[in-house]
Amino acid sequence: MIANINHVKQVMGELRAKKKFGQNFLIDANIVDRIAQIACEKERKTIEIGPGLGALTEMCLKYSRDVDAYEIDPDMYERLKNDLPDERLKVYLGDFLKADLSVYREKVNVCGNLPYYVTTPILFRLIESDLDLGKITVMVQKEVGDRLSAPVGSEDYGALSIEVQYLFEVKQEMNVSRKVFYPEPNVDSAVISFTPIRERDHAFEKGFFEFVKSCFRMRRKTLNNNLKDLFPSEDLKKAYETAGIEASIRPQQLTLKMCLDLYRSLKQI
Ligand code: SAM
Repeated sequence: MIANINHVKQVMGELRAKKKFGQNFLIDANIVDRIAQIACEKERKTIEIGPGLGALTEMCLKYSRDVDAYEIDPDMYERLKNDLPDERLKVYLGDFLKADLSVYREKVNVCGNLPYYVTTPILFRLIESDLDLGKITVMVQKEVGDRLSAPVGSEDYGALSIEVQYLFEVKQEMNVSRKVFYPEPNVDSAVISFTPIRERDHAFEKGFFEFVKSCFRMRRKTLNNNLKDLFPSEDLKKAYETAGIEASIRPQQLTLKMCLDLYRSLKQI
């Protein structure tokens, strides 16, 4: 079993954890098993982001048809290929943010114990990609998990909250103590799942998500300040009326419905 303190300590004695890649390894096999059960489906491929030493990979192989794992660290990549020889596992060396996801033509589940420094870009990458997404299950720092379900008006509410809400039911599956990692990080973590709630329409989403990001371009400014250079003022006035909102509100006050109404009115969809 890879998720085991003696094994992880022994390997890390040889390799050393690289802070720049956000390396903290799971050492509790029960937790890893639970995450894999939430993340995987028996007849489906699982894509794993950041397999590291392979603790989660090993369990994903147990509960999935096969696993494609993307690892940025060459040392981990070599180690993983050596420690988990399985024809159902493909390990790719490289930055997941640059991976070619167009090769996937079937529905896939995605999981990962995400490196902290790159959590938000990875989530944006995933939800804005053309992947035919099944469920996404990720372990993130606890406060990032809280941010994903931040309510309208709160400091943490932003473009990611709206995009996620549009596409998924978000569930905080479990909290995970910092004690089950080696080396031990300074914060606790949470496992979050994202289950799709609508048919994807990538062409619509591309425009809509760009619009959502424009609304939040400068968080301290009013909504109108963020939009006024992008659309004719008459169109904006009409769109505010249709959506029933004041031009002077801050972007954090925008609900998903307001964003959709505004966007559709501006694009006359
Ligand atoms: N999955 C392992 C576990 O749970 O024990 C390791 C998790 S560790 C928090 C994050 C892993 O992601 C590390 O192995 C790190 O090298 C890898 N990683 C960091 N940035 C990455 C990136 N941009 N693309 C792919 N892997 C990355």
